[in-house]
Amino acid sequence: MSFQNQTLAQLMDKVIQKNPAELEFHQAVEEVLLSLEPVLERHPEYIAAGIVERLVEPERIVMFRVSWVDDQNKVQVNRGFRVQFNSAIGPYKGGLRFHPSVNAGIIKFLGFEQIFKNSLTSLPMGGGKGGCDFDPKGKSDGEVMRFCQSFMTELQRHIGPDTDVPAGDIGVGAREIGFMYGQYKRLRNEFTGVLTGKGLTYGGSLVRTQATGYGLCYFTEEMLQAKGKSFNGSTVVISGSGNVAIYATEKAYQLGAKVVALSDSSGYIYDPQGVNLDTVVRIKEVERKRIKEYVQFHSHAEYHEGCSGIWNIPCDIALPCATQNELDGDAAKTLVANGCYAVAEGANMPSTPDAVEVFLQNKVLYGPAKAANAGGVATSGLEMSQNSMRYSWTFEEVDAKLKDIMVNIYKNASTVAKEYGYEDNLVVGANIAGFLKVANAMLAQGVAY
Ligand code: NDP
Repeated sequence: MSFQNQTLAQLMDKVIQKNPAELEFHQAVEEVLLSLEPVLERHPEYIAAGIVERLVEPERIVMFRVSWVDDQNKVQVNRGFRVQFNSAIGPYKGGLRFHPSVNAGIIKFLGFEQIFKNSLTSLPMGGGKGGCDFDPKGKSDGEVMRFCQSFMTELQRHIGPDTDVPAGDIGVGAREIGFMYGQYKRLRNEFTGVLTGKGLTYGGSLVRTQATGYGLCYFTEEMLQAKGKSFNGSTVVISGSGNVAIYATEKAYQLGAKVVALSDSSGYIYDPQGVNLDTVVRIKEVERKRIKEYVQFHSHAEYHEGCSGIWNIPCDIALPCATQNELDGDAAKTLVANGCYAVAEGANMPSTPDAVEVFLQNKVLYGPAKAANAGGVATSGLEMSQNSMRYSWTFEEVDAKLKDIMVNIYKNASTVAKEYGYEDNLVVGANIAGFLKVANAMLAQGVAY
């Protein structure tokens, strides 16, 4: 796809020029801007007010040194980030990623996506994201704790329960959130809901751990049922074996599917009898080992080095849940050739633009990340509400709210897609639906903010 609207084409050029080498950020912005063409034709007032030009520029970026001492008493230095992208509809909200690949471009792409995703949830949350190029892999608990404390020593100046509320993402789970929360509390002397994804003993919400994976499956089931299909009886391939992949697997099984493959950044397992989730949880979450260990416990299963081969496995439904750009055009063609009829994204931007094009052209039911994986941040929003009320809902209550939110996101995205002449194109539908609420809030609030 290329731009027809000259204002948007020029804006895209400007984004590339002003943010050189931030390829993932360019990719995320281009996808949204292309979707907005029909909106701007109907609503020139957004152009007049510079809404889109303001949207692609973060309100604030903080970049900071994180120094800490490892187990050998050696000083280590990492680089931390927090991008506060847009606060038009609520306090900044978005996860923290700890992974060696983290840089400004990655955090900006994630923060930009988060604006629209958070808007789609219908909860009052602005868009933000943060992280660090720290690699938790192979580090002792003590090292992770000292790193998290140093990271929060700087981050605490910039966040707060009504300002910016971070959560987890790749490399940031319950352990890391706990260490960071402890340090925030120590430094600020306040017990507030400044982070989500907290443990249940200190303000966490039931279902938050499961939320992104469960929400992905609720969204996907709604998308399937709209076309007379369902998870029930289907074969599913899921990439990754972290938080999102594990709970997507659990919910897919509950909905009657068979999950035959999972992966990590080294390779993938294929278990034609259906992956045993207990084994995966023990290996990845409890022992923090590699997915290849799985075949030691299930000798009929196969392990293959490298991640991309997972998309060669025939399936009905594919749920990429590992990382950005993990599924390219060739992989998409293979999935289609093997009869895959639905793809929904648990990870953020896992499909390359080529892959998305293949899905749309072949009428594969395609749920883009900002709609399909919004369940995590939606439940974080519910955690914020519970913290403000100093009250806790039951598992069933939170799960029911999550399901409602995901069903509504599907309905909203598909209705808006149809309204703008792009029936069944949930990329356009999600981008426009997410954009409209933020744009109208920005219009109402005037220019100088
Ligand atoms: P985790 O750290 O729990 O798990 C990440 C998984 O992806 C691991 O299996 C990891 O393998 C694998 N992975 C990471 N990097 C790569 C890579 N370069 N190539 C192949 N595999 C890789 O993270 P989450 O499950 O929380 O996040 C997964 C995705 O979901 C991310 O895109 C994240 O932004 C998105 N997401 C997460 C939400 C949440 O609530 N957690 C909410 C919304 C989106 P290994 O073990 O080898 O590192």
